Amino acid sequence: MTPSVAPSVHEALPSRVVFGAGALAELPAETARLRLRRVLVLSTPGRGALAEQAAALLGGSAAGIFDGARMHVPVATVTAAAEAARAAAANGCVAIGGGSTVGLAKALSLRHGLPSVAVPTTYAGSELTPIWGLTENARKQTGRDRAVLPRTVLYDPELTLDLPVPVSVTSGLNALAHAVEALYAPDGSPVVAAMAEAGARDLAAALPALTRDPKDLATRALALQGAWLCGACLGTTTMGLHHKLCHVLGGLLDLPHAETHAVLLPYVAAVNLPAAPAARATLSRALGTDDPAAALRALAHSLGAPTSLRQLGVRAEDLPRVAEEVLSAPYANPRPVGREELEVLLRHAWAGEQP
Ligand code: NAD
Repeated sequence: MTPSVAPSVHEALPSRVVFGAGALAELPAETARLRLRRVLVLSTPGRGALAEQAAALLGGSAAGIFDGARMHVPVATVTAAAEAARAAAANGCVAIGGGSTVGLAKALSLRHGLPSVAVPTTYAGSELTPIWGLTENARKQTGRDRAVLPRTVLYDPELTLDLPVPVSVTSGLNALAHAVEALYAPDGSPVVAAMAEAGARDLAAALPALTRDPKDLATRALALQGAWLCGACLGTTTMGLHHKLCHVLGGLLDLPHAETHAVLLPYVAAVNLPAAPAARATLSRALGTDDPAAALRALAHSLGAPTSLRQLGVRAEDLPRVAEEVLSAPYANPRPVGREELEVLLRHAWAGEQP
């Protein structure tokens, strides 16, 4: 890596990560280590069988299962899960699933002081960040609080073998976006840059391979390792225009999270990377290209990811509102992006045109 003369401060977040095929078997030892003697297992409705598998492993320390986790953490869901935890006298929880399930565990930590162990089964990376979200009356509120960080994260690639290819692809591009934005974040550092480079390289190799053979354990392990590295970048840096746009689109138009990331990443990269030469150089190395924005677009295309906002159900007339909301509060970015340029970016992304 080229040494940087830029000043930087790196503040690592506390995390214990257990990684590897079969890591789920360590769940009882890891909850015991945290003295969690009555644990509520959380999942989305579709992953109830996996929650039951985790509860069976926990044996006597499983206090129950709550399989009602939903995208964007509705307050009503948190209330119902907290009630289940109270009724079962749980003193902690295990979140087994994607960002929606981990998000519910974070909300339970924030509002009810319940510590959590996370077993991520997608590449979203929420398990390594102190960022929480809560949705009430169609408004998503987010914040940072170290109290919501899962105490232990268990990454078991075997649990991702069944993650459907389209979800794997969009979730993997979501993770890649964390690396891209961490590389030009105002609070980046050589440590973050090294993690982002390695994470981007892992995902760029693993995603095409997993579309060919989704059941290959080594490929799934590579993808999950990339997600870990990218999630760690997300946890320690301030994201820019890309994450801002995804947040606004998700909130205003209720768009699916990972798909929105997949569509926008090449467009934001094309606008931002020319103003961030070090990030551009690092990504070029990671992706094996001299034009990383074009390579990200080619990657998304080759993976069969959604490539336009129109495909996600956005109407052209929604775009000015999105731009307005993005411009309404300042955000970190390697360069300012004015209204006109933002609207052009959104129109191109809406139509799926060349950035
Ligand atoms: P998700 O958790 O909603 O999962 C997507 C779907 O995949 C769900 O239906 C789930 O049941 C299913 N699924 C998960 N793992 C599976 C597996 N191994 N096999 C088969 N099906 C599986 O989606 P996500 O993309 O993981 O997370 C998105 C949410 O996470 C959003 O609400 C987003 O805001 C949040 N998020 C938060 C942060 C943060 O730092 N706070 C970071 C990233 C994402």
